Amino acid sequence: MSETIRVFAGDCTTTFEGARARTQRGRVAIVVKPDRTVLVHDADGYQPVAWLTRPDSLTVETDEGGFGLLARAGEQVLRVVSHESSGWVEYPVTEAGVPVGSHPETGDPLVRAGGAVRGLDTGVRYPLPAGATVLDDTCDDCGLPKIRAEAGDAFELCLDRACESLDEAVRERFDREWTCPECGSDLRIIRRGGRLLAGCDAYPDCETAFAIPAGVVVDECDCGLPVFETARGRRCLDGTCERFER
Ligand SMILES: [Zn+2]
Ligand SMILES: [Zn+2]
Ligand SMILES: [Zn+2]
Repeated sequence: MSETIRVFAGDCTTTFEGARARTQRGRVAIVVKPDRTVLVHDADGYQPVAWLTRPDSLTVETDEGGFGLLARAGEQVLRVVSHESSGWVEYPVTEAGVPVGSHPETGDPLVRAGGAVRGLDTGVRYPLPAGATVLDDTCDDCGLPKIRAEAGDAFELCLDRACESLDEAVRERFDREWTCPECGSDLRIIRRGGRLLAGCDAYPDCETAFAIPAGVVVDECDCGLPVFETARGRRCLDGTCERFER
């Protein structure tokens, strides 16, 4: 998991070929991110004097005399060659996220970023259900933060699915609660294709299935299915329901 940022510094000539073709010389610091993005910074302002975002290729050469970088993205070429090198270093980096406490066993700082909570040092990763919030409370069993997730009802659960499962909580609350509008069988709470669904009990004879939206049930639709209050407003469990009145 360990990604790194490399930083090179020195008196360099920077040449950019492409839409913004230009050549510059000065004492600069070059930042190379884990996705190969190259940023050349001089003394002024926040903006790099030259950059190439996620180039197709990046070649880095270093020897006692200095360093050279060559990045290519289609027609665009960024070249940085040192005349006199101040040196180069490599640092471990992670995605930065909102801090949400620490791991109860390892003490690893936990941050929320990109739909998951991650441990900065161990790389442990807990995916979050859509629209979930991380609470200040911690789990009585394992000490990890608790989360609040909506899937028909609001559930407060452990961050770790292995400790406390949202699927199970939803199943306990809504399994066989609703009726298939096509055939009248019960709708079962199932996970298929990575999604939590209310799917017809007569499957595979009846293939009716609805993804359970992130929201709470507040009403019943004319079609008999529940109405969900979601972040984007009210909707029928069947997102394409023609009988749902806004
Ligand atoms: Zn737990
Ligand atoms: Zn059915
Ligand atoms: Zn409906």
